[in-house]
Amino acid sequence: MASAVLILGAGQAGFQVAASLREKGFAGTVTLVGDEPHLPYQRPPLSKGYLALSPLPDVLIRHEKFYQDNRIELRTGARATAIDRTRHAVALTTGEMLQYDHLVLATGGRNRQLSLEGTDIDGVLSLRHLDDADRLRQRLQDAGRIVIIGGGYIGLEVGSLALALGLETCIVEAAPRLVARVASTELSEFFHRHYEKAGARILCGTTPARIQGSAGHADSVQLANGEVIPTKLVLICVGILPNVELAEGAGLEVANGIVVDQFLRTSDPSIYAVGDCARYPSRHAGGELVRVESVPNATDQGRAVAEAILGRPKPFESLPWFWSEQGKLRLQIAGLIQGHDRAIVKGDPASGTFSVFCFRGPTLVGVESMNRPVDFVAARRALTEGLPITAEEVANAAFDLKSRVGPLRPAAAA
Ligand SMILES: Cc1cc2nc3c(=O)[nH]c(=O)nc-3n(C[C@H](O)[C@H](O)[C@H](O)COP(=O)(O)OP(=O)(O)OC[C@H]3O[C@@H](n4cnc5c(N)ncnc54)[C@H](O)[C@@H]3O)c2cc1C
Repeated sequence: MASAVLILGAGQAGFQVAASLREKGFAGTVTLVGDEPHLPYQRPPLSKGYLALSPLPDVLIRHEKFYQDNRIELRTGARATAIDRTRHAVALTTGEMLQYDHLVLATGGRNRQLSLEGTDIDGVLSLRHLDDADRLRQRLQDAGRIVIIGGGYIGLEVGSLALALGLETCIVEAAPRLVARVASTELSEFFHRHYEKAGARILCGTTPARIQGSAGHADSVQLANGEVIPTKLVLICVGILPNVELAEGAGLEVANGIVVDQFLRTSDPSIYAVGDCARYPSRHAGGELVRVESVPNATDQGRAVAEAILGRPKPFESLPWFWSEQGKLRLQIAGLIQGHDRAIVKGDPASGTFSVFCFRGPTLVGVESMNRPVDFVAARRALTEGLPITAEEVANAAFDLKSRVGPLRPAAAA
């Protein structure tokens, strides 16, 4: 008998589960519930072209007809509030109860809040949703200056655009270096130099004390060291927290994410979790639980769960990868570099074209490629296949990753 799949969260991962189910011939009902008013859309452009391009780029993953043609029942503007695991039903804010045979949690994350005086003043923005990007886009036009609190990838991408639009730009980062959580020191230093050269003020190891305003509008950020930076526009982007409350309320295991097994199943075998909200055991992190915030992770997991629902479960082993675009900088990262203890730089950071090979003990765990897409493609293949590449050979001036991995198949270049 055809079964019912209910997906909570109509973002990148939720969309992919629904689309892959239909693509692979699933005959039952597919319902995709999202609390935003929009059709599922891509978030990456929101900190890139969407803020500056004219006309506005289309960020929808698919148009309405796709959902009709593929019999995906899309419920936008509806929030799931509780899961009744005994009855296999989910309550929505609309008052309905939706039944499921398979439930997929794809609730993503929400922006971490700063406990800081003044975050509620006009002119203080955050960036996660399409509506946030619309607000930021409008404010960037005439702000003249921006203070970005948080020097992670989103902060740097917006900073890059703000500089291109001619804004006086200051990035305030609490950690001792930019993108500290997810990048090597070598890459952080490159970004620091790059943005200072481009005219930004970069303040690492610095925390804001309060945002000050007059007549209800932001007019400055006061730092913990007492300095006051005048600005009408403040963007706070200090990372996300996974949306785990539904899972927690249903008694599922939660620990910095919804904990799933290698098949992306929660502790209830009829409930899966995918994307930014899911914490899974990764072969590429020595079996440790990881939570990966990236589009490739969301789409790969969406496809894997569709297969599992169709009765073809396979351990989820995709190599995590990520990209960021900042002006002329194209960064691609293959693997998980967290916890690495040795980094070897190939190429010349001063030229803006280089790769950082990151090792944990004797093992290559990740490669950060700046404007070196060939290294990225080869690194994905090397890491996926677990090729035994040593630090000694990488350190050799004649080392060439591409020839080391052999001819690249088109699939590896995708
Ligand atoms: C500005 C920005 C730029 C980015 N740039 C890049 C990039 O360059 N490269 C990259 O790889 N990644 C990038 N990312 C990260 C990437 O977009 C995310 O990893 C990806 O969107 C995760 O998909 P998801 O479906 O898990 O979560 P989301 O896309 O966040 O979707 C989750 C959805 O679920 C909804 N929801 C939550 N709770 C409920 C509920 N109870 N009921 C109904 N709906 C609910 C949320 O509102 C949301 O719409 C970026 C993210 C942002 C915000």
